Amino acid sequence: MKLAVFSAKPYDKLYLTTHHAAELDRAAGIDVTYHDFPLNLETAELARGFDAVCVFVNDTVDAPVIEALAKDGVKAILLRCAGFNNVDLDAAEQHGLFVANVPSYSPEAVAEFAVALIQTLNRNTHRAYNRVREGNFNLNGLLGRTLHGKTVGVIGTGKIGVAFARIMKGFGCTVLGYDPFPSDEFKPCGEYTDLDALLPQSDIVSLHCPLMEKTKHIINEDSLAKMKPGAMLVNTSRGGLVKTKAVIAAMKSKKLGGLALDVYDGEGALFYNDHSGEIIDDDELMRLTTFHNVLVCGHQAFFTDEALAEIGACTLRNLADFVHQRPCKNSLLRDGKSLSRTKSIPVRI
Ligand code: NAD
Repeated sequence: MKLAVFSAKPYDKLYLTTHHAAELDRAAGIDVTYHDFPLNLETAELARGFDAVCVFVNDTVDAPVIEALAKDGVKAILLRCAGFNNVDLDAAEQHGLFVANVPSYSPEAVAEFAVALIQTLNRNTHRAYNRVREGNFNLNGLLGRTLHGKTVGVIGTGKIGVAFARIMKGFGCTVLGYDPFPSDEFKPCGEYTDLDALLPQSDIVSLHCPLMEKTKHIINEDSLAKMKPGAMLVNTSRGGLVKTKAVIAAMKSKKLGGLALDVYDGEGALFYNDHSGEIIDDDELMRLTTFHNVLVCGHQAFFTDEALAEIGACTLRNLADFVHQRPCKNSLLRDGKSLSRTKSIPVRI
């Protein structure tokens, strides 16, 4: 079994192989090669001779790439993440490939990061940190709002949305949820409502739904117009949920009072790499970074020790299921049909 890991970082090596060295030794015959560049049509030929590839959120696994992989003998695609909007499941099914993800490595890690962004933005700790380093202890401009008693809207009440709702309920917030597929887990934390009712009532709106055809730009000019003036928008899910031009306009007009993004529509070209010595050719992202009340992070909500440990272990369990031809509970293709845990078929975006 030869596995090619794309977009590999030192921490991927640590949590995939170093921490599992004994298991990999026992399962003699698993040979792992790491590539620090992403999988795409140009790099797909480097998977030739490998049985499986392991990919992350910004690797391109669309129909042409899948066709190239299948032609070169690749039989399995292992995602070391939960979201699978970057994989064309229909193409994978057509070519008879095995595809599995890591659906739940630490919903709390992502939920806690969303809360960290809210707390930072709301209480201006990012600005206070810089001021104090320069000997400026002036509080002007650092005024926040007490979260207790505020209304928080959660769009997508799956594993992460519920973990987030639980924390916000603990803060003493009123929690509203919107999800076309309501779950019993959310009900103790808040009340379900429709999107049109959630938007105008919420002081904070946090996105936790997957990126699909239906949710692409779910935050756009229309939905922003329905939001409460001065509300905060948080996106720790996928960049494509938010129409960047529309949120820039909403920040300029002060319709939005704060914006926290861990993910960004054009992140594939930038995130996970150091571009500090380059001219960044993305005017929308650069405009976003000029607002004092916009926080942008580089898709790091998942990045905890516990989450990486589970991602590594689960990816290897999925691989073992594939090697031994056992049923895999994380397979995204079952009975020859594309399966989405979000109850609708994602599209390539
Ligand atoms: P999940 O599948 O448990 O939950 C997603 C929920 O969204 C489901 O309840 C589903 O019914 C709901 N949904 C589907 N269509 C919707 C719509 N049109 N409107 C509102 N809700 C809708 O997934 P999860 O584990 O909670 O993860 C959610 C998303 O978070 C993932 O899809 C992924 O994109 C993102 N994520 C980001 C990071 C990060 O590091 N920033 C890490 C992990 C996951």
